[in-house]
Amino acid sequence: RLARLRARLVRSNNALGKGLLALLSRDTIDEDVWDEIEETLLLADLGTEPTQELVGALRERVKVEGSRDPQHVHDMLREELVRLVDPSMDRELASQRHPDRPAIVMVVGVNGVGKTTTIGKLARVLVAQDKDVLLGAADTFRAAAAEQLATWGDRVGVPTVKADVDGADPASVAFEAVRAGIEQEVDVVMIDTAGRLQNKVGLMDELGKIKRVVEKQATVDEVLLVLDATTGQNGLNQAKVFSEVVNVTGIVLTKLDGTAKGGIVVAIQRQLGVPVKLVGLGEGPDDLAPFDAEAFVDALLD
Ligand code: GDP
Repeated sequence: RLARLRARLVRSNNALGKGLLALLSRDTIDEDVWDEIEETLLLADLGTEPTQELVGALRERVKVEGSRDPQHVHDMLREELVRLVDPSMDRELASQRHPDRPAIVMVVGVNGVGKTTTIGKLARVLVAQDKDVLLGAADTFRAAAAEQLATWGDRVGVPTVKADVDGADPASVAFEAVRAGIEQEVDVVMIDTAGRLQNKVGLMDELGKIKRVVEKQATVDEVLLVLDATTGQNGLNQAKVFSEVVNVTGIVLTKLDGTAKGGIVVAIQRQLGVPVKLVGLGEGPDDLAPFDAEAFVDALLD
């Protein structure tokens, strides 16, 4: 899976790696070159502060180590990027079975970022690990959303708890899903939620209520925030709003297959202090990969 992640990212992001290597291969690394390196990193959505930190650290190392060999400078750049992406963050999903109840995973994010698709893909991964999974369709606002989730459920062979009527209370659907999960002794219950960011107060109430109601039966182990990697700064703003509403424990960054802006990983982790745990690399059922800092940076720079 990591090899595939790499292949995918290489295809979409190689502009960054090639561009940087070309810059570092110039005869002299003068101010202009440093500026261009900075620009290249900014274009990859690394963010102003991390970019300045990285370029500052790199300049210092080039000075101290006195090496002008492009490959060596490239290696230093890689090390500094890995440091920024932070391999020490705990990216394990909280989806282990509790001895007496299912793990509860809430999935939040704005409409269209890939929540439902991610739940389908993740369910498939868990099923492949021999886990019993149940889905809860708590996005009751759009009738099509529950159908779409159930379709994914059928596709990967797991049941979906839906509302009986349109526009039902999302929290009560989530409650029912968790109850069914406990009753059926499944390992993981994943709850899909609505993402109408236009109405921030409504969203806050709704997500907060879902969590409160679910926790009458079982603690929510994981709140995964799904963000679309192609949306740049907008994704960062969304992340901020959601983290004010619920206690986000992990990020899923989708649509990395369609962007050269993978640097957004660094910006998001910094802003939220929460690790990217999974990445979406396409629309198919197998296009989800665990996030690995080193593999990710290698892909970025390849
Ligand atoms: P939701 O509204 O957040 O539940 O979003 P959906 O799961 O319905 O996804 C919205 C669109 O994004 C669909 O067309 C998905 O196929 C597509 N999508 C989701 N994840 C990815 C991904 O990782 N890569 C690509 N290329 N498309 C994705």
